[in-house]
Amino acid sequence: MIKELIQDTLSIFYPQLCAACNDLLVRGEDTICTKCNIHLPYTNYHLDPDNPVAKQFWGKIRLESASAFLHFHKGEKVQQLMHQLKYAHRPDVGVYIGKLCGQSFASSHVFSKVDVIIPIPLHKKKERIRGYNQAACFSEGLAIGMGIESCPHGMKRIKHTDTQTRKNRFARYKNVSEVFAVTDPKSLEGKHILLVDDVITTGSTLYACANMLLEVKDVKIYLAAIAFAEL
Ligand SMILES: [Zn+2]
Repeated sequence: MIKELIQDTLSIFYPQLCAACNDLLVRGEDTICTKCNIHLPYTNYHLDPDNPVAKQFWGKIRLESASAFLHFHKGEKVQQLMHQLKYAHRPDVGVYIGKLCGQSFASSHVFSKVDVIIPIPLHKKKERIRGYNQAACFSEGLAIGMGIESCPHGMKRIKHTDTQTRKNRFARYKNVSEVFAVTDPKSLEGKHILLVDDVITTGSTLYACANMLLEVKDVKIYLAAIAFAEL
């Protein structure tokens, strides 16, 4: 009762807004309002082994499964969510979506064997400026939702890359292929690893990281992202 009173009073001075639509959140809502929660563009790819994200990697790399939680379209709510997560100092948005996604993964046999989640590492300089790695926030929420372990520093970057936005698809592969390393390969031997990122576009970063992880003995690799931006 007292807690609710304090929360109601606080919300008068510091109103909490939905991270997807900016409407005021009401009591009992957290991070994303009920309306957005119902109407977000969920892919349900975790129920379909032949989904478009998985297909993107077919013939290129040995994966157990791949999925993305939401469809990404410019100018829509998922773009707003990703903006909040990356540029508005809202790490909680990543954790929140991770929990939701993790709960749906936990009910799917596709990801039932996963025992550890590793986020794509952000370069140290970028992480220092942003204050957090958005993929690690998603990973943290996923781990809670799935009831397994997150290993935020399972992989690391070994040199800085130039911004990738102006490069074509082929150049992107070349650009990132050498820059990731597995931090402690021994500790990952024989594991089923879910590698995660915020948004999948070409998939080149996930591809590069998954390739490094596949050098660890007897691992199985799964991929997931918050959102999929179809090219
Ligand atoms: Zn909303």
